Amino acid sequence: RHLQPIIAKEGVERTYIMVKPDGVQRGLIGEIISRFERKGFALKGLKLFQCPTDLAEEHYVELKEKPFFPKLVKYIVSGPVVCMAWEGPGVVASARKLIGSTNPLTAEPGTIRGDLAIAVGRNVVHGSDSPDNGEREIGIFIFQTLWFKEGELVEWEQNNAPWLLE
Ligand code: GDP
Ligand code: MG
Repeated sequence: RHLQPIIAKEGVERTYIMVKPDGVQRGLIGEIISRFERKGFALKGLKLFQCPTDLAEEHYVELKEKPFFPKLVKYIVSGPVVCMAWEGPGVVASARKLIGSTNPLTAEPGTIRGDLAIAVGRNVVHGSDSPDNGEREIGIFIFQTLWFKEGELVEWEQNNAPWLLE
């Protein structure tokens, strides 16, 4: 009854956020989750997960031709990740701002990568780069799901919504 369909409701924006294996190993799960939680977005899915190689390759399919692609896939499957679905108005672009630029050395202080990482290949967190990719990564894409399966998202209303949304 409280399970949310994997396909988003009309007008709802969602992003896929993931604590990468280095973030998990370094004990940064709580720190990273709290950045999005304090901002006010709504958490609709959360799990600890060991990513298989084919899923990592599918997730980063747009980067398949990059020289660092094999290293990137090895990195993502090197240990458990924390998968999250966050929802809210403008959540995709806002989360990218909270995360900071891809290279942690040039990411602004105050961002997750700017505060917590030093290497592009160990940049602790992923965030979808567009609403379409948010749906591709969370939801159904060409008859298959990527990070979440049917029944893994939870439908609930945050009771602080009137204090967050005008
Ligand atoms: P993001 O959207 O900011 O995560 O960056 P991209 O989508 O461009 O790249 C995906 C991930 O690949 C990044 O978060 C990095 O972990 C990794 N990556 C990107 N560029 C490089 C690179 O030049 N070298 C290495 N080793 N990894 C990279
Ligand atoms: Mg990207």
